[in-house]
Amino acid sequence: RAKSEGRDTYRFFNAEMSYEATEQLNIRVGLRKALELNQFQLFYQPQLDINSGRLVGAEALIRWFHPELGMVSPAHFIPVAEASGLIVAIGDWVLQEACREVARWRDAGMPNPVVAVNLSALQFARGNIEQAVSNAVADAGILPQMLELELTESIMIRNTERVLATVKRLKQKGFVFTIDDFGTGYSSLQYLKRFEVDKLKIDQSFVRDIIDDEDDAAIVRAIVQIAKGLGLKTIAEGVETTEIMALLQQYQCDEVQGYYLARPMSASQFMTYLQQHC
Ligand code: C2E
Ligand code: MG
Ligand code: MG
Ligand code: MG
Repeated sequence: RAKSEGRDTYRFFNAEMSYEATEQLNIRVGLRKALELNQFQLFYQPQLDINSGRLVGAEALIRWFHPELGMVSPAHFIPVAEASGLIVAIGDWVLQEACREVARWRDAGMPNPVVAVNLSALQFARGNIEQAVSNAVADAGILPQMLELELTESIMIRNTERVLATVKRLKQKGFVFTIDDFGTGYSSLQYLKRFEVDKLKIDQSFVRDIIDDEDDAAIVRAIVQIAKGLGLKTIAEGVETTEIMALLQQYQCDEVQGYYLARPMSASQFMTYLQQHC
């Protein structure tokens, strides 16, 4: 009996492995062609001012529509794109596309529109991020203030000095910086001290259980206070209920983003959303 169980376990394990391996391979091979085949699309998730409910901007989130795999989540393919170096070309495309879109929001009458774009470490290490950002803004005919760049710890941890210098120069030109997933890093406060960012995005892992978990609530409150002390704005991500909204408002968080307000949506859906909310 033990023997057959063992064999079943073994077979199950094998099947899992080969499924995953096949998927990884499909992703790796498919990614190389995805840009030229126009399989990427940016979705936009609204960001609102917590007190007025005013729409302040949106985060651009990449989606990959693969002919066989369907919609592949960025959580699956971004790490593969980073490992292969393709993220630099994909990142350039994201910047170009997001800047063109925020120009449309401005033209549609949205006051002071801002699009937030996620960056990867490799764009700093291997690509010319300053050139990419400047080109995207110039090509779209927008102001640097309309482009917010989201940094994660994995960016700041690698080539810290070089990234610091780049961020400083881009900030001088008027670009806006946010630390994404704030609080999840190893030395978030160190980065806070060294990087002159404009906003902290409180990671959804702290926001999610804020109602039931006193520790999470204390952490969120503390992040908002630190930000205030440093003259930075805060945005909470992963806001899923009205109760969470109310608590964040009480804590004086500035902005919110999450399923409770709106899911990420296509550019044309966002255009409709914008016209209803401005
Ligand atoms: P992120 O930048 O932290 O983005 C937030 C993620 O949380 C998004 O997942 C968003 O759809 C999801 N989300 C938003 N509201 C809620 C909510 O209320 N509840 C829950 N449970 N989730 C919510 P998504 O779109 O799957 O993106 C995952 C990650 O992939 C992003 O995390 C970001 O790190 C990366 N990513 C997405 N687009 C790009 C891109 O263009 N470039 C790079 N380098 N990374 C990207
Ligand atoms: Mg982000
Ligand atoms: Mg985040
Ligand atoms: Mg995240």
